[in-house]
Amino acid sequence: MKTNTRLLHDRFDGDKADTGATLTPIYQTSAFGNATAEGLEAIFNNRAAGYAYTRIGNPTVASFEQRMNALENGSGAVAFASGMAAITSLCLAVLSAGDEIVASAGVFGGTIGLFADLEPFGITTRYVDACTPEQLERAITEKTRIVFAEIIGNPKLDVLDVPAVSSYLKQKGNILFVVDNTLATPILAQVLTLGADIAIHSSSKYINGSGNAISGVLVDSGNFQWDVQAFPVMKDWKKFGPYALICKLRQKVLMDMGACLSPMNAFLNSIGIETLGLRMERQCSNALALAKALEQMDGIVLVNYPGLASSPWYETASRILQGGYGAILTIRLESREKAFQVINRLQYAVNITNVGDIRTLIVHPRSTIYAHTPEEACVHAGVTEDLLRISVGIEDVEDLIQDFAQALQ
Ligand SMILES: *Cc1c(COP(=O)(O)O)cnc(C)c1O
Repeated sequence: MKTNTRLLHDRFDGDKADTGATLTPIYQTSAFGNATAEGLEAIFNNRAAGYAYTRIGNPTVASFEQRMNALENGSGAVAFASGMAAITSLCLAVLSAGDEIVASAGVFGGTIGLFADLEPFGITTRYVDACTPEQLERAITEKTRIVFAEIIGNPKLDVLDVPAVSSYLKQKGNILFVVDNTLATPILAQVLTLGADIAIHSSSKYINGSGNAISGVLVDSGNFQWDVQAFPVMKDWKKFGPYALICKLRQKVLMDMGACLSPMNAFLNSIGIETLGLRMERQCSNALALAKALEQMDGIVLVNYPGLASSPWYETASRILQGGYGAILTIRLESREKAFQVINRLQYAVNITNVGDIRTLIVHPRSTIYAHTPEEACVHAGVTEDLLRISVGIEDVEDLIQDFAQALQ
């Protein structure tokens, strides 16, 4: 199957109960009864498949998980209440006090906040400007257990060379390579196939598409060899082979910590996933056309988009991303005042701190997302006073170009 066919048909058959419904219905129920005591006992002891309690599993959520797993070519997927819950749950599943994380400095602000929250528990994080083998070589120690990076940095818009980092980390051994694939989605990059061990998604963004539900998903390649010396907390789970992490996330982390996805939100994301291919195609081509048009307009100091030959990441992006360069671009306008004026004059772009909606969104990162970030960290992340971030939607691109032209004038 090719991509758009897979979105509708791969590991998905609508209603399991065989009513013929084209979508898995919303099982808006907390618990699932069983006909016999033996039946429930078997489910609780992992001897039979089935549902007991929605915190651990739910048919609507499972249907969404399977579709994400199919798209990323994984061994299994677990959905969570948010993208942040997915990253938190992963850290809690595999790390112990004394372990270290190495992450690229430009990762999502919430992720940086989470890594700081882990410090009192003895888990520390070192940052590299760019996640390249050269820079990792200087940051990795004997204690490094996770390397965490985003496929497309935001708002720097640098593109991760997944195969290069993957082969470097395989030589090192015992380091889990985690890639946040939120901004590319499996439509543009199947990061597990490219060599990542784990794919993380904030499915609140492009997967959902319409900005109507928060959710997160972790997809495991199943390829990582869990060494119990390096990962002592995986000792009881290693026996599940390629399903070790997925089993632990469901049977231990979801069970005990409980950041489960609601059936309603899983349903909304399952609707979103069906048009993901079409939306990405349109949003990426709109972003490229808008970026090229903005390059020609007066008053703009710099247009940054991985699909422009002027981007330092154009070559990497062309190699790693298939069928488009993502739908986020940034522009610089000389001053904060000018940047604010452009936001205020635009008719279509919504002034909002989100990405991946079908609507075009715009934000001034320095005064919002980075309002409480020290200047030095902003410089590292490429956030200047005159920077605007645009998440390009599915509108007719002629209208978007015309709107930016009038706002700049
Ligand atoms: C939004 C986002 C997250 C966090 O996801 P939530 O669903 O908002 O919790 C993580 N990573 C990236 C790249 C994001 O854009």
